[in-house]
This record gives sequence, structure tokens and C-alpha cells, in this order.
Amino acid sequence: MNEQGIAIISFGYFEHDFLEKIAESVTREFALPVHIREGHLDLSEFYDATRRQYNGNMILREVEKQYAIDSVKTFGLFYVDLFIPILTYIFGQAFLGGRSAIASIYRLSNERYGLKEVDESLLERFEKEVIHELGHTFGLIHCHVPACVMGSSTYVEDIDQKSSSLCFKCRTQLHDQAIQ
Ligand SMILES: [Zn+2]
Ligand SMILES: [Zn+2]
Repeated sequence: MNEQGIAIISFGYFEHDFLEKIAESVTREFALPVHIREGHLDLSEFYDATRRQYNGNMILREVEKQYAIDSVKTFGLFYVDLFIPILTYIFGQAFLGGRSAIASIYRLSNERYGLKEVDESLLERFEKEVIHELGHTFGLIHCHVPACVMGSSTYVEDIDQKSSSLCFKCRTQLHDQAIQ
């Protein structure tokens, strides 16, 4: 199986519509076909009982090892609370200039932060997070241009401040790299 594109792999159940919308946004930003697939990993191996969270670095390495085979880029979607040792939590993680990235929906819902309105922002935030981490796999680093999706985000409010698109500068860099 040779897939010239980006594989989005759901680890856990995500609604089809939800995945399709994410795939559309990814195709729009990176001009590559997106393949949606299901994956299975035993996450208990990556659970840190002290922190009651899952080790994002280890999960990313496992996705790379087991799933980043044929596709240009491989993206794992998760539900669990991710951390890396130096941070309290992470929304996602990527190999800079590499082939794999992951993100979790866990920290993105309003419910988690006690906000009342309907959680339509969840999809939007997740789209931005997926595009952001994929940007890293294409070698893009954090960007200071306002509203650029490559801006760094510590809180969901930071994600809400960005658009889901690459700024002109990042887009140019992506393009220059693609034709090298
Ligand atoms: Zn980042
Ligand atoms: Zn930018």
C-alpha cells in the first residue's frame, strides 16, 4: 500500500463527519490528499500513574514506529490527556521536519474549562491543532505573525486567537521546501 499523502489515524472513536472536516482543512492547507484510517495502540504502556497522564513523546514514537510507513506524513488523533516531562500538558506533539505527529482532543473542550456554550469550538480547535503539528512535520517552527496557525499555544484561548491557516511567510517556506 503506497499512500502519497497524509494519513490521519484515529485512535479511539471519532465521528466520521468530524474526521472528514479535519481532512478537508488539512488538504486545503497542505495541498495533499488525506487518508483517514483507524489505529489501535495499547495506551496503558504510556500511562504515567503519578501524573495520571499519557507520555506524548512515547506515543509519538510508537505512532512513528507502527504507522508511519507509506504516507508522506502520519497523524495520530487521541482522546487521552498527554504530557511531556517538561510541561504540565500538551495539545499535541510532532517530529520537526519528520514524518509523524499526534494531537489529543482532551484539553480542547469547553466543558473541561467550565464554559457553558455549545462546544462548536472543539472541531475548530482540533483542526488548528492538527494543522499546527503537521506544519512542524514540514519543518515550520513557531511563528509570531498574528493569527498564523503556527503561533504557539499554551492555553485554549491562544488557539481561539489564531486562524486555521498558515500566514504568507509560513506558506512560502512550506512551498520553497516542497520544491527543493
Ligand atoms: Zn508548536
Ligand atoms: Zn506563520
